[in-house]
Amino acid sequence: MAKIVINKSHLFHNLQQIEKKINDKNKIAVVLKDNAYGHGLVEIAQLCHEYGIKNAVVRTFKEAESVVTFFDNILILADTPPHTYSHTFHIAVNSLEALQHIPKNSKIQLKVDSGMHRNGLSPNELEEAFLGASKKNITITGIFTHYRSADELGSAYFWQKENFKHIKAEVKRLCEKLFLPIPLFHSANSSAVFRDNFYAEDMVRVGIALYGYLDTDPIFNNPHLKPVLSLYANKISTRTVSKNQRIGYGGTATIPKQMQISTYDIGYGDGFLRLNERKKYHTPDGFEVLGRVSMDNLSLNTTQEEVCLFNDVTQLAHIHDTITYEILTSLKPTIKRIII
Ligand SMILES: *Cc1c(COP(=O)(O)O)cnc(C)c1O
Repeated sequence: MAKIVINKSHLFHNLQQIEKKINDKNKIAVVLKDNAYGHGLVEIAQLCHEYGIKNAVVRTFKEAESVVTFFDNILILADTPPHTYSHTFHIAVNSLEALQHIPKNSKIQLKVDSGMHRNGLSPNELEEAFLGASKKNITITGIFTHYRSADELGSAYFWQKENFKHIKAEVKRLCEKLFLPIPLFHSANSSAVFRDNFYAEDMVRVGIALYGYLDTDPIFNNPHLKPVLSLYANKISTRTVSKNQRIGYGGTATIPKQMQISTYDIGYGDGFLRLNERKKYHTPDGFEVLGRVSMDNLSLNTTQEEVCLFNDVTQLAHIHDTITYEILTSLKPTIKRIII
């Protein structure tokens, strides 16, 4: 059976690099949304807990519930009205409308739009949000924003950072006026963490760097991170093909000489995105994916029982003209995960 192998020492190495940069383990929030970027939600949560991480970010209540025992604080990004309450949960609120659906006595964090114009309250809605929350005895535990171009060279990042500075000042003014404690402030994702200094903020939200990647402009002084996930497939069958025979759908791969090829139990239905005649790929051991990838299998020029399809998705991201995030999050939760 195909399997995903999670390398614990690589994960811990990446956490150490993040900790070294931030100088405070308690400020790290690990982003575990979308099945921990395809790695396996509970597996990664448990390992991060073992490392000593106290905070996590997820997308849904369901995800939060399945990792609640591992963390002190869980920020839930999705705007769905909550079904369950836990003192660990902090619900992200993106609009004044969403705030109306939050139950009394909840803990929330306000997402503020500092320039990405995707999610979040506009800065001039802050006062109304604070008043609305205190009326329902809702505690605002954090104020956060998200950068649209932390990974690209250019001034947009600094412009947004400046906007967030004004947002923080406004929040402090409101808290003094309403006699409320100052909430946590946070804005940095992985690429922001490593291009700048966030000692003055209370938390950083690291996703992709935790898993060993940074799709950041190489001009930034990036740390050496280690990919955590590898994908393995098992042999279904081997056959001998003769010169000029063709393999798979469309017969796009023609065999140059008689050889043995095998079929393996991974396909695009498992989340290994489809390779074809325009997208050629060699595994880390140098085996070639022959022809088009099928839904549940693919062919390689080897007879090996078990094959590592990748231990680093950078090259695949390149071939598929996408980012490492997409290759990783495509992997289906049904593939068995093992930790080494
Ligand atoms: C996904 C996400 C992150 C993590 O981003 P990375 O680039 O993977 O570090 C941080 N903050 C928010 C709000 C997110 O949605």
